[in-house]
Amino acid sequence: MTARKMATTVVRQGIESDSQYGAVLPPIYLSTNYSFADYQTPREFDYSRSGNPTRSILANAIGELEQGCPAVITASGMAAVTLVSSLLGAEDLLVIPHDCYGGSYRLFTHLAQKGQFQLAVVDQTDSQALQQALAAKPKLVWVETPSNPLLRLVDIARLANECQAQGTLLAVDNTFLSPALQQPLLLGADIVVHSTTKYINGHSDVVGGAVIAKDPQIAEQLHWWSNTLGLTAGAFDSYLALRGLRTLALRIEQHQRNAAKIVDLLQGSEQVEKVYYPGLAQHPDHQIALKQQRGFGAMVSFELKGGATQVGAFLGALRYFSLAESLGGVESLVAVPASMTHRAMDAKARANAGIKDTLIRLSVGIEDPQDLVDDITAALAAVAAG
Ligand SMILES: *Cc1c(COP(=O)(O)O)cnc(C)c1O
Repeated sequence: MTARKMATTVVRQGIESDSQYGAVLPPIYLSTNYSFADYQTPREFDYSRSGNPTRSILANAIGELEQGCPAVITASGMAAVTLVSSLLGAEDLLVIPHDCYGGSYRLFTHLAQKGQFQLAVVDQTDSQALQQALAAKPKLVWVETPSNPLLRLVDIARLANECQAQGTLLAVDNTFLSPALQQPLLLGADIVVHSTTKYINGHSDVVGGAVIAKDPQIAEQLHWWSNTLGLTAGAFDSYLALRGLRTLALRIEQHQRNAAKIVDLLQGSEQVEKVYYPGLAQHPDHQIALKQQRGFGAMVSFELKGGATQVGAFLGALRYFSLAESLGGVESLVAVPASMTHRAMDAKARANAGIKDTLIRLSVGIEDPQDLVDDITAALAAVAAG
């Protein structure tokens, strides 16, 4: 029997699993506790923090999509990041990218300050700096590819080889692409992390997370810590995320088609200084994208020519891109990283990271492509009109 394809997994997981009434869709199990068969025999589930049937269906689906063990489903993406950090002891070294998600950066730096583990912050696209960090034999290397907001990439297979050779674990935050476009475990990573808040749920109505391990022993440790720390997600949120996941394959196709059209438009505009998108041949990591991604995703960043006036004119003319943080939902969003997602960084740190005040980040949604193209066209015209 050949393994089923991703679009089938997301639709079929848990379908027809109800033995009570033959419900086609799995019901939500809200009960916090489950009776013992007799006083010495627990059933499959006993208490919903430790295990829940609704959460299990989502865990199995995401585990299969990432080709790993069943996922641990957490109450947020940050709970998923916290869970991975629980694998580290006081003497262990963690290597993180200098441009990782702000919430992860805050968590890692503060846990390190409290002595939970040692920390090295590295520009992972600088191979010399990365080699230096690896030479210190870290316990875990954390990767985010594509990065936020400049969409730089890390060669997962290459780094995984180097990590494996010296017994270092490799964890990849796969939130920006989803398993539909990138499967880090198949490239040699040990652990995958998601904020399911983004593409996996895809409807901007649940905050959630997932951690998937390749090795059953690590999966078991993660499961143990998730229960011990109380990081697991509730049944309602798990149900909603499963409902959102049903259309992942379909959504990603449309997200990418729309993003490609918008990238074309931006590339041809007099008002645009530079476009950041891994699908462009001139993107510094385009070859890595071709090698390890099944598509280029739907996050697009670009710099406008000019300054605050031009940014204001552009944003003011948009109808279909909501000015908001987050990403990966069906609705298109626009953000200005310098004053929104990355405002916690000071001006110097932003300059070091290459984040200009005129940088604009789009999370391209699945609205009609022509409507989105017309919207961006009108906003660029408003910039030109001054
Ligand atoms: C949003 C996000 C997180 C944190 O997830 P929450 O669900 O907001 O807690 C972690 N990593 C990346 C790349 C994200 O985009």
